[in-house]
Formats: sequence, C-alpha cells, structure tokens
Amino acid sequence: MADKRDYYEVLGIQKGASEDEIKSAFRKMAMKYHPDRNPDNKEAEEKFKEVNEAYSILSDPDKKAKYDRFGFAGVDPNAGFGGGGEGFGGFGGFGGQGFGGFEDIFNMFTGGGFGGGGAYSSNYNGPVEGADIQQRMDISFEEAVFGAKKKIKLTKNVECASCHGKGAKDGTSMHTCPSCGGRGQVETVQQTILGSMRSVRTCSTCRGTGQVIDTPCPTCKGTGKVRKTVELTVDIPAGVGGGQNSPVLTLRGQGEPGRNGGAPGDLYIVLNIKPHSTFGRKGDDLYTTLSINFTQAALGDEVSIKGLRENISCKIPAGTQPDTTLRLRGKGVKNSRTGRTGDMYVQVKLVVPTNLTEGQKDLLRAFGDPPVNEQPSASSKKKSWSDKVKDFFD
Ligand SMILES: [Zn+2]
Ligand SMILES: [Zn+2]
Repeated sequence: MADKRDYYEVLGIQKGASEDEIKSAFRKMAMKYHPDRNPDNKEAEEKFKEVNEAYSILSDPDKKAKYDRFGFAGVDPNAGFGGGGEGFGGFGGFGGQGFGGFEDIFNMFTGGGFGGGGAYSSNYNGPVEGADIQQRMDISFEEAVFGAKKKIKLTKNVECASCHGKGAKDGTSMHTCPSCGGRGQVETVQQTILGSMRSVRTCSTCRGTGQVIDTPCPTCKGTGKVRKTVELTVDIPAGVGGGQNSPVLTLRGQGEPGRNGGAPGDLYIVLNIKPHSTFGRKGDDLYTTLSINFTQAALGDEVSIKGLRENISCKIPAGTQPDTTLRLRGKGVKNSRTGRTGDMYVQVKLVVPTNLTEGQKDLLRAFGDPPVNEQPSASSKKKSWSDKVKDFFD
C-alpha cells in the first residue's frame, strides 16, 4: 500500500475522463494483464489486481467523487480486489448497482474465473477426434455371400508428412497464439439492453489450436494436413448384410486424422449389394426357383441346380405340386459372423409342355382318361411358403 499508484495512472487515463473512457481503459488493461494470458507472471497478476481496484473505485460515481476529493483516504483502503477465483470480497457492495460493477467484470471473464485457468479454457485446447468418413462401395451378390477382399480408393485428409501434422516448416518454431493466449478460443462481450452478452468462438488466428506458426510448412500451407488418395483393402466378411441392401462396415481409425493428439475418425463403408439374376436372399437363406416338367413333377427326379459357385443336387419327390418349395438344408449362406449356415429354398415351377407331337398328345389323352379332377391342395402351409417366396421376389 505504501507506493500505491494513482487510479487514473493505473488505467492510463486523465483525471476527468468520461465513464466510457474509464470503462474502455479498464477493458484494455484487464485484458492485457489477465492471468489467463499471463500464466505464472507475478508482475502481471499484481497489475491485474491494481487495475481492478482502480476500476472498482472509478466506476462507482460515489467512490469516484470521494477519491477525486480526498485521494486514497476518501475510499476504503481494504476495498481492493481480492485476487483469485472467489476473491471478489466486498466488490459487489459498491459496484452492484451502478455503471460497470461486478456483473460487467464478471461477464467479461466468466467461464474461467479470475484466478486464471478455468475449466473451459484449459480443456478446450485438448485432443480433438478426427472426422468420420463415409464412402459407398458396390459389391456383387456373391461377394456378400462368400466374403471378399476389395481394394478401395479413398481421398481424405492425412497428416502432412513434412511437418508431422504440426503445420510449421521444419526447424521453425511455434508460439502461443496472441489472439487467444493459447486457449484456442476467444470471447467477446457485447453490451445489449439485457446486459453484457458473452460469446465464445474458435480463435480464427490459430483455428483453435492455441499455437501460431512462424513459417508455415510449404507442403500443407500450415494446416498440418494434406489431401491424399489412399488405397485400402476392405475385408468383406462372408454373409455380410443378412440380405439388407445397404449394410455398413466400420473401419476404425481410417477416418481423418485427429488434432492435438486426438484419435483419428472412423471410415464407414456403405455396401451396395447388387441383386442376383436367379437368387434372392433373406438373412442366411437363399431363394431360387426351379422349372420342372410335368413328368418330373409326377414321377419325381433328381436334378442339378446351378448354384452361386457350384452345382447343387436337388431331389424332386414324386407327386410334387406346382409352386411347392423344397428346402435344401445347409445350402444357404455360411455366415462368418454368427458361424451358422442357412438353407436354400427352391420354389418349383411347373412348365406345361407346348409343341407336342401327335404321339405325345395321344399318351396324354390316355393318361387324362378319366380326367384328373383333384383340386390342388389349398393347405395353408404350402400357401404360406409360396407367398413368402413370392413376396421376396416381388
Ligand atoms: Zn505440413
Ligand atoms: Zn488463437
């Protein structure tokens, strides 16, 4: 207290300065000596307290009048700013109502508190995860069923190899961003009729990194990232999608690089499975149709179905009715994820012969006498299978 400086001198203004001049001088000084901007600087901390004390007096018309008349003796010598986060002490007592005062100063720095290093300011500049990328990939029906390894070309941001993502030219230094004091964000206070409105935004000078570069890396122009087309091998698991049209594969860590040591994002590959000309799929089951003739249906037969990769033997029981669905166990999709294998359902289509020879016609006439009047069974079980398959192909 012995060598206290004159309050006007502390704020760098003349005696008789207007309210606005006092206010703006205070803002300037408070910003300059704010502990967040001057970490571990004892001198700045003292100056900051001094500035606040000066403003606490000069912003209060009553105190100011007393100070103008009587100097320090006219104001409470203990009214000084307490310093530290909660040290407002008696501040509100005289500043609360009038111009400036507690609210105003508080708004100016809320979030961090006066003590410096508030929650938002110290954490903001921490690791930031990289962005995720989504890419489409066409695969065939067979690739979805049997699995495949497919190469994919992907253009994305990758860490610049020249500067290792730092953005600074090799050998040059980086320093704390002067615009935000290294916090990566800046706040502005606007006076509105509702009072002081504080808003926080990413610092445009350093783009939120808190560091500025003396000489930007020529390769990435200081961004730390470069666009690059990379080739990846995507492992498509057998049985992928379960018959869905657009299953998604996740490749962890293949997205854009993170910032400040943050993890990279993920790559999502949306698979577009092309339909097959003769096979359908539901879950791990395959569906197809088989055309047989009248004789095969009546007498039974063993035929070979052209499968996805190999021929599959299929027994047609004697007396098979049109649209009967045959089930071939274990001939469906081998799902690598669940370990189970589906079945194949074969819907029998009866082909009625045309262009018969006279001899064949005679044989059929003989067969049809007496006529076969038996109506096809309307049993619900058969209906439900054929409906299901029909629904699937519709
Ligand atoms: Zn670079
Ligand atoms: Zn900045």
